[in-house]
Amino acid sequence: MFKKFFILSAAVFAVLALSACASGEFSSDFFAMDTYMSVKTYEVDAGDAVKNEAERLESLFSVTDEKSEIGTLNANGRVEASEETVDLIERAIGISGMTDGALDITVYPAVRAWGFTTGEYAVPSPEKIEEARSLTDFTKVTVEGNTVSVPDGFAVDLGAVAKGYLGDRVSQILKNAGITSAIADLGGSIVTVGGKPDGSPWRVAIRDPNGEGSVGVIEVKDKCVVTSGGYERYFTDEDGVKRWHIIDPATAEPADSGLLSATVIGGGCVLCDGLSTAIFVMGAEKAEALWRREEGFEMILVTETGDILVTDGIKESFFLSEGSAYELKVIG
Ligand code: AMP
Ligand code: MG
Repeated sequence: MFKKFFILSAAVFAVLALSACASGEFSSDFFAMDTYMSVKTYEVDAGDAVKNEAERLESLFSVTDEKSEIGTLNANGRVEASEETVDLIERAIGISGMTDGALDITVYPAVRAWGFTTGEYAVPSPEKIEEARSLTDFTKVTVEGNTVSVPDGFAVDLGAVAKGYLGDRVSQILKNAGITSAIADLGGSIVTVGGKPDGSPWRVAIRDPNGEGSVGVIEVKDKCVVTSGGYERYFTDEDGVKRWHIIDPATAEPADSGLLSATVIGGGCVLCDGLSTAIFVMGAEKAEALWRREEGFEMILVTETGDILVTDGIKESFFLSEGSAYELKVIG
């Protein structure tokens, strides 16, 4: 995220009610964190509050804005950061530990080397890849009080967790405003408050990584639904291989785990966002082991071989699209 170029495709999109503007319903769309966002609430209009929050967090976390706290950290190797930036860095490092380093906020030299910051995509030389790999190691990030520092050449990118952080903040802001029914699409991170006004669950479509439509719908109340997918930002190399923006920190190359997308559903958006990126790197087998040992999330994995793997906790609330060519399998 926070890239200078425009990314249209959201990983998941809310299936909004057909009745466009029922009374007491407020919808707004805006562009922030380099992506389209939308929010729909009832009784109280919270569009501006959500937009302001997205812009506020962008000014802290943006990797392309040299004046942001992350921009300052990357330029100087250290920064006196706000509590929120420190909190997000520490939580991301926690998820790195949980995922054996599949999530690594120091992967930025590789993200940059492959051109995902500028849009000037290119396969880097083996030397450049090796250099980026040697500059990727989340254990080298030091936090002392509010001072965050990284070694020379290292750089931090919170793109894998920032929209999740926004999701948790938005959920809080909406609840504080007395809103009991809302859905926001924060550029692929969906956050829901309660269910629909009639009490039924929100229906969130999961995009088909191979096409324009959706693979199915997940019904949720009061949950985050976050998808990481190779189709969100990629280029095709000389050998016809798709090279996408999610990097395996162990190789400094685009992840190649057999997954086309990873969706994580849970109560905490930072966890969902961090895990969706990590699981895309880890692949189905390691993701299944992670799901067995950790609490607080469910997942929908779309594999290269045409399977949709859904964990036991959501098997009753996931509905495969009619006539789908995918085969649904439950991880139980
Ligand atoms: P997401 O869309 O949440 O999966 O985040 C992807 C973004 O996070 C990329 O555009 C990069 O800026 C950054 N990123 C890529 N790979 C990783 C990784 N393995 N760990 C942490 N951040 C990553
Ligand atoms: Mg993520």
